[in-house]
Amino acid sequence: MTKGFDVRASTQPADAAIRDTILANPGFGRHFSDHMAHVRWTADGGWHGHEVRPYGPLSLDPAASVLHYAQEIFEGIKAYRHEDGSVWTFRPEKNAARFRNSARRLALPELSDEDFVGSLKALLAQDSAWVPTPASASDECSLYLRPFMIASEAFLGVRPSREVDYYVIASPVAAYFKGGIKPVSIWLSSHYNRAAAGGTGFAKCGGNYAGSLAAQSEATANGCDQVVFLDAAENKWVEELGGMNLFFVFKDGRLVTPRLTGTILEGVTRDSILTMAGDLGLTPEERPVSIDEWREGIASGEITEVFACGTAAVITPVGELVSEDARLDLTANAGDVAMRLRRQLLDLQYGRAEDTRGWMT
Ligand code: PMP
Repeated sequence: MTKGFDVRASTQPADAAIRDTILANPGFGRHFSDHMAHVRWTADGGWHGHEVRPYGPLSLDPAASVLHYAQEIFEGIKAYRHEDGSVWTFRPEKNAARFRNSARRLALPELSDEDFVGSLKALLAQDSAWVPTPASASDECSLYLRPFMIASEAFLGVRPSREVDYYVIASPVAAYFKGGIKPVSIWLSSHYNRAAAGGTGFAKCGGNYAGSLAAQSEATANGCDQVVFLDAAENKWVEELGGMNLFFVFKDGRLVTPRLTGTILEGVTRDSILTMAGDLGLTPEERPVSIDEWREGIASGEITEVFACGTAAVITPVGELVSEDARLDLTANAGDVAMRLRRQLLDLQYGRAEDTRGWMT
């Protein structure tokens, strides 16, 4: 067990047979392990009370500021079981650093690497039986970990909360796409923006996701899987999807992704792909990409592939770009580079390739 986290074990853990039934068909984010990690923060006492306790409902005062002003942040990271039975996470210190960036933007207290990574380890030590075992090399099951921090002080004034709670819960998940990867269709939002300069786009805060739901509903109503957002100032520059970053593969071997402007989430997968690009002979580039460059690049053949990436779905080819006035078929472009990068990343995460960069913990 990780030093510093007291363990209060559940007296009613899930029956092993029930757990195995869930692990055989977990879906995404519907079932939760037996425990959760918790650390409390108060303005006077700092971080204290590190514990792993039974999973269960929170008791929250109805005046808790998170319920009114959305002072909240979260993270998403997976735990993978390797063939020898050991359990690993991928670059957790990147999530810890992003969590601190988010905390600063939302005026929440910062959590150290030690407490962030320690909370994952402490929960995994208790609930390791909830990490599914892949049935084959193409089985992408894992235990999704969801660290989050909420403002819990009962106070209706608008100011940073003086009481905060941090939790980690865990949910076994299957591959994002049942029955194999299929290229995603993307709706280009012309009514909604996700983030503006000076706003919270780079932070992983609940409000960003609440604000993206109407656009996501519009995407669904138009038969699309995901929504892509343009910048708020000019409605011209491609930013990201509701929950994934975007990459463009050029004919000459450039691998281009929108640069970080403060309005885009800095994805761990995005950073990993930029780092791994050279291994595949690609030249990574972070720069603005306009929606016109996307459309014209496909038409001229300059852009050979477009793909999306994130922890949940790993790397997914984009098969279609749909907007009010146009439908761009990209299925002919859905492909090779995305699938090679995907294989490389998964082999590393599941322990089938050597971890030359020290990315696994
Ligand atoms: N953009 C947004 C808005 C996201 O929510 C996510 C998922 N965290 C990503 C990009 C991808 O980030 P990561 O690769 O760290 O999962």
